Amino acid sequence: MIAVVGVLGALGLAIGSFLNVVIYRVPNGLSVVRPASACPGCDTPIQGRDNVPLLSWLLLGGRCRSCRMRISARYPAIEAVTGLAFVGVALVFAPAIVTADSPAKAVAAALVLGALLYFAAISVALTMIDVDVHRLPNAIVYPAYPVLAVALVAAAIVGGEPGALLPALIGAAGSLLFYFILAFAYPGGMGLGDVKLAGAVGMLLGFFGWPQLAVGVAAAFVLGGIFGVVLIAIRRGGRKTGIPFGPWMLLGAWIGIFAGEPLAQAYLTLVGIR
Ligand SMILES: [Zn+2]
Repeated sequence: MIAVVGVLGALGLAIGSFLNVVIYRVPNGLSVVRPASACPGCDTPIQGRDNVPLLSWLLLGGRCRSCRMRISARYPAIEAVTGLAFVGVALVFAPAIVTADSPAKAVAAALVLGALLYFAAISVALTMIDVDVHRLPNAIVYPAYPVLAVALVAAAIVGGEPGALLPALIGAAGSLLFYFILAFAYPGGMGLGDVKLAGAVGMLLGFFGWPQLAVGVAAAFVLGGIFGVVLIAIRRGGRKTGIPFGPWMLLGAWIGIFAGEPLAQAYLTLVGIR
């Protein structure tokens, strides 16, 4: 188990390195494959030994080997965050593969783990791009639908629990409709990119269950709302300041996935329903 978490953590670091390329190139409509990464200061292509996630940046003291230009700490930070996200997902969702009581259930658990690792990777990329340029590129959002749908449908059928697909479908359709209405009612607050992402997020949350879906969607608005109020309070923004909502939608979704059930239970107890 420790080995699995370690391997997935290393995979997260490597994928985080690739996400640095995605975050810079996708909003600019550039290929993520060619050309190979080069130093923005001296155009020297980055060699393999200087492209090891996290370690290369530390060993080189945060500077280019050729021209000694400073390389932003944001690159190793994104690698570290992606690595930690993969470790977190692995710690919570990999044990189900080992403890499954049949090979089919183990395969289903592995498919769910794969879907979550993929969602973790696009969460990091979309968050950074939305913060950078206030956009959620279709090139990342659209593929999320078939990738998550195939993994979740396969997991539900192989695992013998096709019942999870109905809440997933309702989560996708309901979230799309909800965000569409919000974008229509408050054109300044919610963008079409948020609407397009909401369906994929709702599908994933619904697959895990109603508490996860409810908490995941609600948490986005609670966090985004608190952040907006704080911004206004410290006078960093007015009511019309465009605050990207994608990061809150994604962070809310992860709260729903990891803690949806206990949080929903706590809320129901608090308001005295159960
Ligand atoms: Zn350089």
